[in-house]
Amino acid sequence: MAWFKKTRKPMATPAKEKPSRVPEGLWVKCPGCSQVIYNKDLAANLSVCPKCAHHFRINASERLRMLFDGEWIEYDKELVSTDPLGFTDTKPYKSRLKASIESTGMKDAVIVATGTVDGIPVVIASMEYGFIGGSMGVVVGEKIARGIERAIAAQMPVVIVCCSGGARMMEGALSLMQMAKICGALARLDRQKLPFLSVLTDPTTGGVTASFAMLGDLNIAEPKALIGFAGPRVIEQTIRQKLPEGFQRSEFLLEKGMLDLVVDRREMKATIANALRFMGTRQAPVASQQPAVALAEPITEPAIPGAS
Ligand SMILES: [Zn+2]
Repeated sequence: MAWFKKTRKPMATPAKEKPSRVPEGLWVKCPGCSQVIYNKDLAANLSVCPKCAHHFRINASERLRMLFDGEWIEYDKELVSTDPLGFTDTKPYKSRLKASIESTGMKDAVIVATGTVDGIPVVIASMEYGFIGGSMGVVVGEKIARGIERAIAAQMPVVIVCCSGGARMMEGALSLMQMAKICGALARLDRQKLPFLSVLTDPTTGGVTASFAMLGDLNIAEPKALIGFAGPRVIEQTIRQKLPEGFQRSEFLLEKGMLDLVVDRREMKATIANALRFMGTRQAPVASQQPAVALAEPITEPAIPGAS
């Protein structure tokens, strides 16, 4: 037995941090440049870092507020998943649904609404990542398909803002069928010569990328968004090769021809409106209450000098 024993002190834990005087949620640290930003400034800048243009993730209704001119009409708000398979993983799917409904105030992971974008009547489907990873189950598929059908009936273009981890595995094959259902509806939209713009935001992966997200007449992404089908680790293991830098990010995909445009969120609305006008979308009020102010005044041709 040793006479002296050095008792090991437990690892010193840093003294408890003084409670911050700044109320929770007033300031945000930018993951891009570590700048501390005042929450209201960030919101005023459409949740884009004013310093380094890092795009923060925003929720579905913030997205609609950013794109629509004002009010919008939401459809099929009450559709809710019935848990058709009675699925349980680490938790029953039913309780996952319940928790997401409580935390987001939505019944499923998409809002489908009509309104005007710079005076153009549009159907927008905006996906909500906060609802089970924005996954596409039966309800998401049904709401988007109905939205497209509504657009066909009213002769309006469609914009889908993707923000999703892919198909909802808790609904098994039923969730995979939504890919075909939405693509079928988009094909009917196409036959009516109505435009569909796909806006890909961080993240757009899995079954959503593999179906409608890549079918836009224009596929527009936000900067540095993660867009892909399978995760990088799965691909590395399959092809047994190291993946290049920036793989599965918007800029890389643009370079490889997978996307048409990478657009800053602050320019998104103007870009969408311009593209829709270029594609010949009518500005006239179509089955909406939008007053026809924009078209009320006839455009007078400037007099050509020299012509009598
Ligand atoms: Zn930043």
